[in-house]
Amino acid sequence: FFRSLEKQGIYLNEQQIHAVRHFKGPLLTLAGAGSGKTSVLVCRTGYLIAVHNVDPKNILLVTFSKKATEEMRDRIAHLPGLNESIAATIQARTFHSFFLKIIRKYGVIQDILSETRYQHIVLKRILREMGLQDAYQPETLLSLLSSYKMQMVNVDSLPEATDEEKELKRIFAEYEKWKSANNKIDFDDVLLIAYNMLRQKPSLLAALQNRFLYVMVDEFQDTNMVQYELIKMIVEPHCNLMIVGDDDQTIYSFNGARNEFILNFDKVFPDAKTITLDINYRSASSIVGLGNEVIRHNTRRKKKTLKATRQSQTSPQYIRPKNTDEEAEIITKYILRQVKQGKRCFGDFTILYRTASNSRAVIEQFVIDDVPFVDFGSEESFYEHWLVKPLIDHLRLALNPRNFEAVEGILPTLYINREQGMEFILDQETVQKKKWPMIHLMSFPDIKDFQKEKLMERLKLIKSLRPMKPVDIIQSMRREFYDQYLETNKRNKLTHHKEIMRETLDELESSAKRFSSIEEFVSFIGEVAEKRKAMERRHDSENDDKVSLMTIHKSKGLEFPVVCLIGASEGNMPHSSILDAEKMSDVFTTHACRDKITFAIEEERRLAYVAVTRAKDDLIISSPAYYHGKITAVSRFILDAFPKQPITNMGTNQHISGENSSIPSERQQIKETVYAWICTSDSCTAWKRINSFEEAELTSKDCPLCKAPMKKGSKEVIVNN
Ligand code: ATP
Ligand code: MG
Repeated sequence: FFRSLEKQGIYLNEQQIHAVRHFKGPLLTLAGAGSGKTSVLVCRTGYLIAVHNVDPKNILLVTFSKKATEEMRDRIAHLPGLNESIAATIQARTFHSFFLKIIRKYGVIQDILSETRYQHIVLKRILREMGLQDAYQPETLLSLLSSYKMQMVNVDSLPEATDEEKELKRIFAEYEKWKSANNKIDFDDVLLIAYNMLRQKPSLLAALQNRFLYVMVDEFQDTNMVQYELIKMIVEPHCNLMIVGDDDQTIYSFNGARNEFILNFDKVFPDAKTITLDINYRSASSIVGLGNEVIRHNTRRKKKTLKATRQSQTSPQYIRPKNTDEEAEIITKYILRQVKQGKRCFGDFTILYRTASNSRAVIEQFVIDDVPFVDFGSEESFYEHWLVKPLIDHLRLALNPRNFEAVEGILPTLYINREQGMEFILDQETVQKKKWPMIHLMSFPDIKDFQKEKLMERLKLIKSLRPMKPVDIIQSMRREFYDQYLETNKRNKLTHHKEIMRETLDELESSAKRFSSIEEFVSFIGEVAEKRKAMERRHDSENDDKVSLMTIHKSKGLEFPVVCLIGASEGNMPHSSILDAEKMSDVFTTHACRDKITFAIEEERRLAYVAVTRAKDDLIISSPAYYHGKITAVSRFILDAFPKQPITNMGTNQHISGENSSIPSERQQIKETVYAWICTSDSCTAWKRINSFEEAELTSKDCPLCKAPMKKGSKEVIVNN
């Protein structure tokens, strides 16, 4: 088998062969990125079939995404002694698809709420009915509920020590009630139903145990408790379980993943053999080195240092553009040059980003410069985002009050619901004859007085927009529609999604700033949408050569010749939702909370590690100096990893080096004055940065070091150091 593999150009190392040869009993392979974990799973599957004559039907391979399962099947089909029809009989599945099929077979017929959009609508309605619409974000609630459920805490047993906990419990109970009344389940329910089913139907469990005699799980570090319990039940009689993973790549903690499961595997399965892989076959040596440096600073991990096998041709490149627009320009030019010079094709490049709004500028630059791309990150374009679209629709209406779609788009901001709106939508013909179709809404029978008032106000607003600058309009509308919710509602401690909302609106403002009139802005948006569509059409037809864009989360397990990691700045990596908490942590919060913050920062660092270790040959890291007009420091993860390397200057006409670039050798210092609490004791140097004084007013003002009183003040800090 191994000789045939070598004929195919696959030379496994001793440790890998050891793992592939493993026949029975539990096996753990805990190893760093690109060390061949997935390859070992694939080869062991082939080995079991070709050498041990295991029936392919007896093998269960669990992977993380649909894309990964397809890739695995494809690789298995090409192994010695195997072919596509054999590979097709192996169950290579994601947790969800595997267990969904089982529960469907045993009579679970409820519809799945497969789009989070629907879950949001349901939760929004529940919140409104409870008078809590301003207190919580549906996204945040859903991920919290999901993480409880994935830790097998059901809604009845949620804690209710504080008022907030009681409130949350009530909301979640309502949500569950709604689902059962409407015959729906969500993705988390699939696993929980499967778990209960296996416990209640011994015959079903026994059938699964007898069928799946060899079970393998890839990316085990992101397994949550329900998934782990399910797997444990299936392998219980024979314990033929092989898991592979990397505790440094746990990036789904918000879904209940815990890297303790992989770290404690040998305690749950005391007979487990452990095989370590420490040679990276994926990346050029300088990239492997950078990955090691990035992750080294995490404290809660199993220490491992990867060795490289591939000599680097180039070092990872680091750029510090002035802002995201310049970042987009530099990267697009670089890609176009490389393609023009015949060094690369478009398909070699992948852009990785932390949150969706990071990609707006790059996508627009691609559209402008006709770079073919495919965005795996989000289904909709930036201007279609639910926060952004209503604002743009106002601009469209200012240009053309008869823009029917735009009227439809702003209905939610007028508190006009779907049913009321529907009448308007159906009455299109009459309405379109009016100069101001919006006025027509007034005459609808079930439009309430407050809605009429809103309508009048809004008409006035839209009429006044025409001469204004786009950025001023966006600023004033976001103040009116969203900022009150984002700023004043301090009661809601679950802020992560608010941070993302704020970021999205900031991004819109940055985009609007580039235009001096509504006409220009709206027509640019139209042009981007059209070109994007045309590009998608062109790509549907066989042409595969395109740049990919995706979030770091989606890139897990994958590899690409060239990776451009954009937005590697503080506030983005680590994300601001965590940083805000961190800034306050030393002075104001308890030990437990600080612990949580450290945990969150370590997860952010793991994301950075996953991002850089996706690159095979070339890696470009970019940290824009200004984000939405605010200066930002280089991501600490990058600074930690480039201790001696110069950080290049920011400024226009910057190139990626190796081309016609000139990189200044000194790191330029960017200073900023920040609010702070400063210790009044002469012998103490403690001070702590805060966002605003109002925020700090609420809590104690004693120095954490010497207990002397602290006073308000300001400090000058170097932000990129
Ligand atoms: P990740 O942690 O990112 O999931 P991984 O440990 O699963 O990475 P693989 O994806 O299996 O790593 O392998 C990384 C790359 O190294 C792949 O391109 C694979 O083909 C190659 N590779 C694995 N083992 C060897 C080997 N012994 N010789 C040459 N190339 C190898
Ligand atoms: Mg892998």
